[in-house]
Amino acid sequence: MSGTSTGIPDFSIIGAGIMGLCLARELHAAGAHVAVYERAPASPEQLPALTAAAGTAAWAAAGMLGPSGFPPHIPLHSFALSAAAYYPDFAAGLERETGIHCDYRRIGTLASRHGMGGAHAAACAEASGISDEDEPHLAHAHDYVLIAGDHAVDNRKLVQALWQYVRKNKIAMLTGCEVGELRRTPDHAIRIQTANGCFTARQAIIAAGAWSGQFAGIHVPVVPRKGQLLCVQAPADLIRHVILGPEVYLVPRSDGRIMIGASLEDAGFDARLNPEIAAQLLKAAVAMVPAIKDFPAESWCGFRPYSETGLPQLGPTNIPGVWAATGLFRDGILLAPIAARELAAVLTGRESEILSSLRA
Ligand SMILES: Cc1cc2nc3c(=O)[nH]c(=O)nc-3n(C[C@H](O)[C@H](O)[C@H](O)COP(=O)(O)OP(=O)(O)OC[C@H]3O[C@@H](n4cnc5c(N)ncnc54)[C@H](O)[C@@H]3O)c2cc1C
Repeated sequence: MSGTSTGIPDFSIIGAGIMGLCLARELHAAGAHVAVYERAPASPEQLPALTAAAGTAAWAAAGMLGPSGFPPHIPLHSFALSAAAYYPDFAAGLERETGIHCDYRRIGTLASRHGMGGAHAAACAEASGISDEDEPHLAHAHDYVLIAGDHAVDNRKLVQALWQYVRKNKIAMLTGCEVGELRRTPDHAIRIQTANGCFTARQAIIAAGAWSGQFAGIHVPVVPRKGQLLCVQAPADLIRHVILGPEVYLVPRSDGRIMIGASLEDAGFDARLNPEIAAQLLKAAVAMVPAIKDFPAESWCGFRPYSETGLPQLGPTNIPGVWAATGLFRDGILLAPIAARELAAVLTGRESEILSSLRA
């Protein structure tokens, strides 16, 4: 590693979503010279409007950290458990480094025995019954089980903290800079063609979320899956747990906001909001917690990076020196910190048993 902030970066990261920012932090901490390219023309102060408009999934997400929803027989099961085990350290470290509190809370999940919640409850051996007092505003509480191992975080605060880390550590961040093309040069560097000119790096990592499959000649089998979500501003503590109902989930924030999600649509990059979907989300949420109907709601959408192989894309591509860090689909807020830690280990010449086991 050069470890300097001048000269050609060791690693240029395409995309400042949660994956790209976590990776920048890990590589910087390992002593590498890192640059990040983000097409949103954002400074941290402008982030809310600009990244939301861009459909960035890290901004749109609900913030559930639900490893127990991964059934034991799938390869991602132990990856998700390791991701959840790493979260307390990750969140505390980032908070220490930046002073930004990410509302990481070990609040547990209440999963309905029916529909969407039922699949989650069935995947978890540790579930136990609850009483009405555990969640006073929840209708039919006896239909739910408590999964204590699931947590939640405010993903927007997390993104803001990661940007703050980048800024504080003077990591090169080029915003308003859409990367169009990546090419390997005869001297084995990577040429990065952007709307703002041409740059060079020793290696490049595509962390462009649902847009990662769009670079000509580079095979990253990732496509978008749209998610529309509803947010209700309720009083703090109206609900105390993440609640997985028969049709929708509810994720509370400390400030009272409740995320109600989410649609899963094969709609390309169509960012239009559908009022019918918003109405369905609200109806299903009110059936679970009737008090929700009394509070103002807003809706937004984002594009999840869906991997056509069913596994995250965390490794080399067909172009030597160009890597992929994407495909985290519905669980990127949970998985990105550990994916970044492990990929940074590989990029800086170490082994990652966790990533090897994912490929095995
Ligand atoms: C509605 C919804 C709810 C979700 N809920 C949860 C949840 O509760 N828990 C959970 O764990 N996960 C959840 N997810 C999934 C999670 O948000 C994603 O898996 C995660 O954000 C993916 O992170 P990423 O960094 O790969 O992509 P993104 O966050 O989308 O970031 C990609 C970035 O790359 C930039 N970019 C794209 N193309 C270029 C280019 N050519 N040049 C430069 N920059 C570029 C984009 O502007 C963007 O900033 C949810 C997703 C959605 C949509």
